[in-house]
Amino acid sequence: MHENSPVAVIGAGPIGLAAAAQLLERGLDPIIFEAGPTAAAAIGQWRHVRLFSPWRFNLDAAAVRLLESNGWETPRLTALPYGGELIDEYLAPLAATPEIASRLHTDARVLAVTRQGMDKTHVRHRDATPFIVRVEQSAGEVLDYAVSAVIDASGTWSARNPLGTSGLPAIGEDHAAGKISSPLPDVVGRDRAAFAGRRVLVVGAGHSAANTLISLTELAKQEPDTRILWAVRGASPDKVYGGGDADGLPARGQLGARLRRLVDSGQVELHTGFGISTLEDSAGGVTVASGDGRTLVTDVVVPCTGFRPDLTMHRELRLNLDPAVEAPTELGPLIDPEFHSCGTVPAHGAKVLAHPEKDFYIVGVKSYGRAPTFLLATGYEQVRSVAAALAGDYVSAGAVHLELPETGVCSAGSGTSCDVPAAAVPSVGEPDGCCATQQPVLVGIPTGLTHGRSSENQSPYDAGTS
Ligand SMILES: Cc1cc2nc3c(=O)[nH]c(=O)nc-3n(C[C@H](O)[C@H](O)[C@H](O)COP(=O)(O)OP(=O)(O)OC[C@H]3O[C@@H](n4cnc5c(N)ncnc54)[C@H](O)[C@@H]3O)c2cc1C
Repeated sequence: MHENSPVAVIGAGPIGLAAAAQLLERGLDPIIFEAGPTAAAAIGQWRHVRLFSPWRFNLDAAAVRLLESNGWETPRLTALPYGGELIDEYLAPLAATPEIASRLHTDARVLAVTRQGMDKTHVRHRDATPFIVRVEQSAGEVLDYAVSAVIDASGTWSARNPLGTSGLPAIGEDHAAGKISSPLPDVVGRDRAAFAGRRVLVVGAGHSAANTLISLTELAKQEPDTRILWAVRGASPDKVYGGGDADGLPARGQLGARLRRLVDSGQVELHTGFGISTLEDSAGGVTVASGDGRTLVTDVVVPCTGFRPDLTMHRELRLNLDPAVEAPTELGPLIDPEFHSCGTVPAHGAKVLAHPEKDFYIVGVKSYGRAPTFLLATGYEQVRSVAAALAGDYVSAGAVHLELPETGVCSAGSGTSCDVPAAAVPSVGEPDGCCATQQPVLVGIPTGLTHGRSSENQSPYDAGTS
């Protein structure tokens, strides 16, 4: 850390703002760059969607302390806020506190991060050299900021996965871009005109798809010509139907159960095993073809295909990423959706999130790379730990803990966090530590679950790891 230089925080979403609050409590000086015109610009795209976790899991402790010192009143902790309410009642007031507002640059998109005067290949004095954060301001002006550390909380919203099954855009996807909506359109509100009375194909098997499909059935009640198609790549949509009554986040369980009823009643036309290979845009609509030769003709496609991290801005940094998930190497195996369909992930902080590039961290939903199971509470613990580490308090940085609801959405047939040895994930009230319990659990970094980590980075934290 270079004394008196600020710590750059990239992105003023919930995790970036929480990082700023945590840094301020540690006596560090954050400078926050937000690409959008206001804080929480990404959540602004899904204001109409209700969160499935209640307020008490959606607030960061340091942010709450800062807000309360500025006269803020806590929302009802058991209520489930809409994305818009999360902004209006929490994130916008947080961004408006004098402590944050004076350090927040909006319409400021970070283009790249590097070390001052050296590219990625240079080793000498690397750790002692300030970072340079290159920022494009709204007027097109580009400025370089020298900072002591960088926390990237820029999310993944701007980089959705393509519709094609192989990780590449389907052939014709780019050409049909005008018929492909944003990932979570407000089909009964802001974006209604694009969907009313039209054929709509929703692609994907996650909660965004479930939300959009349910909203489309609401629209179809008022606009009966609206036809709702749903394509999933897998053989079954069970993963989306989820834990039902067993889900520790009841709102999420209800979402899946409701969708199942809509499919069973024929209001949503489900196509399973539909891996998209091509899109052909013509005057009659977009013809979407699967690899096995089936076709669906639609007016608009909603791509609920998930997100991936955009890492181009870190080209000059030394990162250590899981080759599959693109999360920090040690975190990857804990969240890999191929093996882990539960939302519950062991608490983790600066140690797990560290890269060979000293004092550089990716946090928030971006830290999960391509894994879809990120929860705000996890991110708040990440930034608490990272701020402690940047302040040199390695004991506090290593003493990670987290209270999260069990999700109850482990899918049968694939690996889940049930695979985690029970002793590694202590739970309250149930013996198997995973899907069966609806009780909140306290979890720590499980010993023996770490993969591929070089030992030299571990020492500062080991004393405090619980
Ligand atoms: C529909 C939906 C519902 C969800 N519901 C829940 C829930 O109920 N409970 C829960 O715990 N989690 C939920 N999540 C998951 C997660 O908590 C959210 O995605 C959350 O917004 C992640 O916060 P973040 O700060 O990491 O990223 P974001 O909220 O995406 O914030 C990133 C910010 O960085 C900015 N940015 C991006 N690129 C740049 C750049 N180059 N330079 C500067 N700024 C940049 C963006 O404009 C944005 O403001 C939900 C997610 C979605 C999509």
